[in-house]
Amino acid sequence: MSGRWVEVANGVYARRYVELDQTLGLVVGDTHCLVIDTGTDEVHGASMAAAVRFVTPLPWTVVITHAHFDHFFGTAAFLPASVISHERCRSLILAEGERQRRVWSAKYRSDGKAEQAERLATAKLVAPTEVITSSVLLDLGGRTVTLVHAGPAHTDHDVFVHVPDVDVVFAGDLVEQGAPPSVGPDSHVSDWPAALDRILDLRPTVVVPGHGDPVDAEFVRRQRNDLARRR
Ligand SMILES: [Zn+2]
Repeated sequence: MSGRWVEVANGVYARRYVELDQTLGLVVGDTHCLVIDTGTDEVHGASMAAAVRFVTPLPWTVVITHAHFDHFFGTAAFLPASVISHERCRSLILAEGERQRRVWSAKYRSDGKAEQAERLATAKLVAPTEVITSSVLLDLGGRTVTLVHAGPAHTDHDVFVHVPDVDVVFAGDLVEQGAPPSVGPDSHVSDWPAALDRILDLRPTVVVPGHGDPVDAEFVRRQRNDLARRR
């Protein structure tokens, strides 16, 4: 599965994929790196892992932004590793992961994407090893990042990653470029603008969405206001 790196700041990268217009992330410190989301299946995860190794040999920690299949079914390719998520993300991966696998494998099959269906059908389900409830600091050596849960929004357990030394935020699916934000049955539209305000309060220069190209704060503000009108 081929992807393309976009360096959004010094040592901070977005990896773009055609499938689902998805964007995974990488933050490189002096002693560790942080991988943000692992992709749709183990083949995708392995391609991301190899791409990370092209950038840095440092040991990685993984953060899963939320429990939608395309963000966590590639995790096995990164093991052994510390895998961090919100506590409800971990519970949902364990409770709902197999159902998501069935639903999306069937969808891929009915869309004529047999190979993708098979990859998802055979991917190992990996639960996060460490959980957070509100926020946590991670020292990557020479650079500290913050993982933040800003309340219910796209799901009730979204986590975004703030890289303060370069004013970059990895937003997961709190922000989407190229399509409107994905509002599902597990979304909380009325609370979503407040979560985006938490991101905007950080005055980011670049915000990396879970799907689409990196955007600026003004784009996030527009998406925030669109969501506020939908309440
Ligand atoms: Zn999602």
